[in-house]
Amino acid sequence: TVAVTGATGLLGRHVLDELLGRGLEPGQLRAVGRNTTVLDALDAELGIDTVQAAYDAPETLVPAFDGVSTVVLISSSEAGRRIGQHRNVIAAARAAGVERLVYTSLLHADRKQISLAAEHEATEELIAESGLPATILRNGWFSENYLGALQQAGTTGIHLTSVGDGLVASASRRDYAAAAAVAALEDTHAERTYELSGDVAWPQTELVSAFGSILGREVELRQLSRDEHAAALTESGLDPAVVQFLVGIDASCRAGALADTTGDLSRLTGRPTTPLADTLREGHATAA
Ligand code: NDP
Repeated sequence: TVAVTGATGLLGRHVLDELLGRGLEPGQLRAVGRNTTVLDALDAELGIDTVQAAYDAPETLVPAFDGVSTVVLISSSEAGRRIGQHRNVIAAARAAGVERLVYTSLLHADRKQISLAAEHEATEELIAESGLPATILRNGWFSENYLGALQQAGTTGIHLTSVGDGLVASASRRDYAAAAAVAALEDTHAERTYELSGDVAWPQTELVSAFGSILGREVELRQLSRDEHAAALTESGLDPAVVQFLVGIDASCRAGALADTTGDLSRLTGRPTTPLADTLREGHATAA
C-alpha cells in the first residue's frame, strides 16, 4: 500500500490521480489527511482507503501507516511549524515499519537561497538520520502560484514585480505529482535526490505576455525595486510579515534561485513539462 499525506490538498489530489493512472489499484492507495469532508469525498469518488491524521498528532500518524510500504510525505503548508510536523511523520513511518519515503522538498533546498528552504533542508536531514530509504523530490515553483497575479492583472491591467531579469523554471502541480507517483511506484528511485523544475526558464516578460493572451487585454509589466515593491504591497493592505515574505521570494527569484532547468522532472515523468501559459489558462478557466 502507498499512503499519501496532505492528500486533501491540491498537490495531494494530483498525486492520487497519477498513482491510479499508473496502475496502482484503489485498494492499495491510502489518502491521509485532516479534513474528513474531503477524505470522504475521495473515498466516494476514487474508492480508495482514507485515514484521518494530523502532522501535529503523532498518535494519529502511526495507525495511518499501518500496513503501508511507501509513504509520500507532501510537505506541510504550515510554514514555521514544519520541522516538528515532518519529524512526527518520519518517526511514525519508522514505527509502522514503512519501507520507503518520498518527500516533496524544494529546488536546491541545500543552497539556502530562498527563505522556504530551511525547513526543507532540516527535513531532509531528519530523513537521512532516520535511515529510511528515501526519494527526495526537490520541487521547483508551481506555475499555479501565478494565478493570483493573473487575476489581479485582469482587474488592474498591471503586473507588479521585483524579480527583474530573474528567470523561473516553473511546472504544473500535475507535473510534480506525476514525478511523485513515479518515485513511489518504482524502487529504483530510493536513495536519490532529484532537482525538479520546468523545462523552460521564463522571464517576467513571458509571464505578462501569457497574462495578456489569457485575459485578452494589454497587461503592463511594472518592474520595481525591492523597496518600491514592499511599499506598494504595504499600501495594498498586506501584513508587514507577508510583505517581507513576498519581496524576499522575488529577491530570491531575481538571484535565480528557481531558474535551474535540470531536466529531472521531464526525465522522471517521460514527457515534457506543461508550458506556463497552458497551466495558467486552465487554472484561470477553472476559477472563472
Ligand atoms: P495545499 O495547501 O493545497 O495542501 C497542503 C496539504 O497539507 C493539505 O492537505 C493540508 O491539509 C495538509 N496539512 C497542512 N497542515 C497539516 C497538518 N498539521 N496535519 C495534516 N495535514 C496538514 O498545498 P499544495 O497541495 O498546493 O502544495 C503541497 C505542498 O507543497 C505545500 O504544503 C507546501 O509545503 C508546498 N508548496 C510548494 C509550492 C511550490 O511552488 N513549490 C507552492 C505552495 C506550496 P488540510 O486540507 O487539512 O488543510
